Amino acid sequence: MSKSKQFTRRDVLAAGGAIIATSLVARPTMAADKVTEDDPTAVALGYLHDASQVDTAKWPKRAGEAGAKQFCNNCALYQDQGDGWGACSIFQGRLVNGTGWCNAWIGK
Ligand code: SF4
Repeated sequence: MSKSKQFTRRDVLAAGGAIIATSLVARPTMAADKVTEDDPTAVALGYLHDASQVDTAKWPKRAGEAGAKQFCNNCALYQDQGDGWGACSIFQGRLVNGTGWCNAWIGK
């Protein structure tokens, strides 16, 4: 008698169901990546995690009294995640710091 087991259709379906269930239960929620300041888009737009560090000579949009009030967390493109970071559509939903800034800032 052969020791090899023939898999039935039921075995295959059960295994597939177990794999799917495991992937749904054990897999942590995918968190969006945080944008890094050396990201090419970030560099092109002058994005910094700390808006107070923006070189206003290079990025005059953030100069002056009105400019100093510009932060990611009051930008129309920012979607707050509740932890000080938010998704930014400029960065395809990756996270930017609420107290950051870039030259694409648009007031709400
Ligand atoms: S577009 Fe707005 S939310 Fe996005 S990085 Fe620039 S200032 Fe921040």
